[in-house]
Amino acid sequence: MKIHEFQAKDLFRSCGIPVPAGAIATTPAQAVDSAKSIPGPPWVVKAQIHAGGRGKGGGVRLVKTVEELKEAAQDILSHPLVTPQTGPSGQSVRQVLIEEGLDIEKEFYLGIVVDRKLECPAMIFSQAGGMEIEEVSAQHPELVLIENIDIAQGFMPYQARNFFYGLDPLPDKGVLKELAAIMSELYGLFIAKDCSLVEINPLILTKSGTLVALDAKINFDDNALYRQSDIAQLHDANEMDELEARAAEYNLNYIRLDGNVGAMVNGAGLAMATMDVIKLAGAEPANFLDVGGGASEEMVTNGLKIILSDKRVKAILINIFGGIMRCDVLARGVVKAAKEVEIHVPLIVRLEGTNVKEGRAILKESDLDFSVARDMEEAAKMVAKQVS
Ligand code: ADP
Ligand code: MG
Repeated sequence: MKIHEFQAKDLFRSCGIPVPAGAIATTPAQAVDSAKSIPGPPWVVKAQIHAGGRGKGGGVRLVKTVEELKEAAQDILSHPLVTPQTGPSGQSVRQVLIEEGLDIEKEFYLGIVVDRKLECPAMIFSQAGGMEIEEVSAQHPELVLIENIDIAQGFMPYQARNFFYGLDPLPDKGVLKELAAIMSELYGLFIAKDCSLVEINPLILTKSGTLVALDAKINFDDNALYRQSDIAQLHDANEMDELEARAAEYNLNYIRLDGNVGAMVNGAGLAMATMDVIKLAGAEPANFLDVGGGASEEMVTNGLKIILSDKRVKAILINIFGGIMRCDVLARGVVKAAKEVEIHVPLIVRLEGTNVKEGRAILKESDLDFSVARDMEEAAKMVAKQVS
């Protein structure tokens, strides 16, 4: 699960990591009002969306007057923001963070991820902050330092010193001490809140010599949300694709894609293979939908309804290999969905496996209009023909 920058900064604040003074606003008037209690000018107006690279896309503006602040907030809130991470259609901005504008002396990068190979947290530090860390890593790998953390020991002071040896110029002792404290606090937060990623880019040294987290990104392990109820509450459903949000409610593994062939499949592997054959037949999948191994009739009904409410879908392929999930359950789910919403596009069905006869019989006896494919290849060709 992702959260917004301002929410991540609230968490930073609560564990002692310094952040700029700031306030959230949903209208230009509110932005102007909130600035009264924030040191400035200058102020910074920052779009709150779950995507990085906002600076590059015009979603972070430095303003010097109240008038400019109002205009910037107005502009950012009025249209979707496109950044290198949002995709071409961008992301709607519902709120902006107004912050004090700070004088930057130096920008660092500080983050923690899970090193899957070593099965432990890895802290990443770089004195080339402000840029995308992937870029720094590609062009100047020597500037990206990594310390793996033994969770039995925690983050050790010597690991902070390992980071500091190569610093050029070397900040004074007080700053280094503060930097080490921030690293330790960030690690504490990472563990306590079951994060999968925390990132401060940039962590700045101000001209007056203090360290401040200017940006904040935190992702959480979804599987741990059951024990992080305060974190789960920070979830912003607006940031999710509407259909993906609905699918998540029904426990369906659904990802929206750009094509026009809706696909309903059981099992992630079969779903991937189905997308491949659809592409091979010259069409593009509109979604990935894995109803799961033990899907119920209701899940099938809901899955089909979600596919049908996607306006771009021009044909649907149902590809089920009955194992734990039985073909008759699938068939009943499809028939039920057809009763509740009109199936307005061609439907191609390929069924195989457990209770396949019963499944086919149920579909046949219903007044559903559909075509049967013998195998996956034929199914993909049939569906591609419908949308070509
Ligand atoms: P993103 O990573 O999405 O582009 P950031 O929060 O990192 O967004 O902001 C982009 C850049 O804007 C930062 O690298 C920094 O140079 C500048 N910036 C952000 N917040 C402030 C602030 N409060 N004061 C001064 N400069 C800021
Ligand atoms: Mg940033």
